[in-house]
Amino acid sequence: MPAPRPLLLCLSGLDPTGGAGLQADIETAAALGAHALGLVTALTVQDTRNVAEVAPTDAALLERQLRRLLDDVRPQAIKLGLLGSAAQVPVVGRAIDRCRVPVVCDPVLRAGGGAELAGAGLVQALREELLPRLTLLTPNAAEARRLAGTDALEDCGPRLLRAGCANVLVTGGDEPGTEVVNTWFTAGAAPRHFRWPRLPETFHGAGCTLAAAVAALLAGGAALDQAIAQAQAWTHAALAQAIAVGGGRRIPWRRP
Ligand code: PLP
Repeated sequence: MPAPRPLLLCLSGLDPTGGAGLQADIETAAALGAHALGLVTALTVQDTRNVAEVAPTDAALLERQLRRLLDDVRPQAIKLGLLGSAAQVPVVGRAIDRCRVPVVCDPVLRAGGGAELAGAGLVQALREELLPRLTLLTPNAAEARRLAGTDALEDCGPRLLRAGCANVLVTGGDEPGTEVVNTWFTAGAAPRHFRWPRLPETFHGAGCTLAAAVAALLAGGAALDQAIAQAQAWTHAALAQAIAVGGGRRIPWRRP
């Protein structure tokens, strides 16, 4: 019998550039020794510069896909990316409750190019229905401010913990500075900072890659602190080798 591989359930948008979304999840899972079970939450119209359109998957169809899949397959972790509509949130919540495994969520609210990817209804549903079900939320600074409802970045992590999220890793790629500072917040411990030299280019799909890496490592049985540290190092290496597939931002090179 071949050795079993960790299974990672991924719910993400489909990005035709291959930089972000479900392709980022699948490539990351494969590079880290896991197998991705992929569900498309939305089709997107985009290039390496920005997102022009998001066409959500019908929530009832997504629920049928999840039911059928989960009747047959038992994932060891879940990764959530772009959710296409507020109507998808309770569907995703039911899948999480059914699986009872670690859940990593990259709250995709705004594209790196500036396009808004989530309306107020989706943000509220995420906050109320999903945050309390997560093992780890990985917002960038802008997403953390929007979800926490404050401009003070240092208050975002504690506020999101109070909203019921078990762990928050606020990433600083979208903040200024010669270093990228990512900060892990967890209840009852001081925030832990991770510092990375800022790479010269800008990237498309960095956040998806980091969240998928943490989730893939958790699916393989890693402890959360180990998964958070290792996923950042692996993502940094993927960004250092990023490739230009178009005229905009580079996409991570996610290979073992
Ligand atoms: N499109 C999809 C499907 C995504 O999941 C994401 C981010 O997670 C984006 C676009 C935006 O990616 P970025 O902010 O890296 O440009």
